This record gives sequence, C-alpha cells and structure tokens, in this order.
Amino acid sequence: KTLLKIQDLSFRYPGESADELGILALEGIEVDVREGEFVSIVGPSGCGKSTLLSVVGGLVSGFEGSVSIRGEEVRKPHPDIGVVFQEDSTFPWRNALRNVEFGLELRGVPKEERRRRAQEILRLFGLEGFEQRFPGHLSGGMKQRVAIARTLVLEPEILLMDEPFGALDEQTRIILGEELLRIQQELRQTVLFITHNIQESIMLSDRVVILSARPGRIKAVMDVDFPRP
Ligand code: ADP
Ligand code: ADP
Repeated sequence: KTLLKIQDLSFRYPGESADELGILALEGIEVDVREGEFVSIVGPSGCGKSTLLSVVGGLVSGFEGSVSIRGEEVRKPHPDIGVVFQEDSTFPWRNALRNVEFGLELRGVPKEERRRRAQEILRLFGLEGFEQRFPGHLSGGMKQRVAIARTLVLEPEILLMDEPFGALDEQTRIILGEELLRIQQELRQTVLFITHNIQESIMLSDRVVILSARPGRIKAVMDVDFPRP
C-alpha cells in the first residue's frame, strides 16, 4: 500500500527580481513509497536533494505537483513525518534519555510512559547505560543514534532522513547503517533516505531513486533485490 506519494513535483527558487526566472531545482519528480519500504534518493551535489526534503517535510511551499501521505496532501510539517538531519541536532543541555523524551513531553505523554518508551528505543540503539550522558560526552555516532531515537520514539509513519551519517567517519557510517537497517526491519519503519553516497543507498534500500542535476530530474530508479545483511 502506498504511504507517501510524490506526484509531478517541480520546484523553482525565485529569482532576484520579478523578471528573473530563478533556479528550477526539481522537475517532474514522481516517487511512491509503500508501507515498510526503505527508499533512498541519491544524486550529486546540487541535484535538489535538500529541496526535495524540504518539500516532503512540509518546510517550503510554492511547489507544483503534490505530496501526499495516505492520500492527504502535505502542505506543512506533518506529525506523521519524522525528520533526521545530518548535523548534530541533540540538545546539549539534556542527557540522552531526556533528549529522546523531548517530543513525548511536547505531546503531553505522562512521565512513566515517556521514560519507558525512551528507554526502550535507546536500548534498540545499544545505548543502555548511556541514558544519563550529556551529548558533550558522547561520540559523534552515539549522538546521531540519540537523534534518530528521538525522532523514532514519536512513531512517525515515515522517517525522512537527510544524509544522517554524512558527518561521521566511514567505519561509523557502516555500523550505523547496519543498525538502522535492523531497527527499520524490526519496527517495519517506512524510510525515505537522502544521500549523495550511492554505495550507502544500495546497501540500505529496497529502491534507489537517482537524480541528475540542473534541474533535478529522475534519471533512473533501481530496485535492489539482493539479500541485505
Ligand atoms: P542538493 O541538496 O542535492 O545539493 P539542493 O536542493 O541544495 O541540492 O539544490 C538544488 C538546486 O537549487 C541547486 O542548483 C542550488 O544551487 C539551488 N538552490 C538551493 N537552495 C537555493 C536557494 N535558497 N535559492 C536559490 N537557489 C537554491
Ligand atoms: P562512533 O560511532 O562515534 O565511532 P561508537 O559509537 O562506535 O563511536 O563507539 C564505540 C564504543 O566506544 C561505544 O559503544 C562506547 O562504548 C565507546 N565510546 C565512544 N565514545 C565514547 C564516549 N565519548 N564516552 C564513552 N564511551 C564512548
């Protein structure tokens, strides 16, 4: 069943003045993400990956075409879409556990349940024993695990990830990729993953959508059907 549907999506950044056309960043993008699927969007710098993320995340308007989740149009940040960014987005003034609890607090989830859910998800990432650590005392990889856990604990229907391992060294990237895949399968989490790393996209995804630059258009779609770890 289709969960996220991107239909004939185009986006143009406005020009400096009214008579300037601006930059066509995306043109005619069509992507269907089914429930439980791991789909990645890959392409060179400037092909429109960040723009696509902003549109799907409901962070920009003024695009043509449509983005919908379960048939409902996305026009602003949607509670069913959880976003993880490349840069460290943990709150330095909260320990790991309270970082993960943050969104649950905003939603008014009672303390006991909050704690239980946050601990559970930290355990999935192998972070038991690190609950009381503040981000300043965690490695880059661990901070990114906390950031992903903080989004996943809200049980978004779709997890949107923007180069989530881009700031990590290669070895950590591989370890985190394997962990993410295990957790994604365990939770049957639907993921839309954005990266410039083709190898990473093939390792992780059920389907790889390759974009070409200027303007960002779909160049190829590849089903990955060899068994993954
Ligand atoms: P990627 O994330 O794949 O590197 P982007 O989505 O950042 O690609 O950019 C796609 C295109 O849109 C590029 O040509 C880029 O120069 C242009 N672009 C990105 N952001 C802006 C902006 N704020 N204003 C104008 N043009 C932009
Ligand atoms: P990274 O992913 O950033 O390379 P890992 O998360 O793989 O690092 O860390 C490997 C192990 O090293 C962790 O499981 C943890 O036990 C330990 N470790 C790493 N950084 C720290 C730290 N700042 N404080 C305590 N232990 C750490």
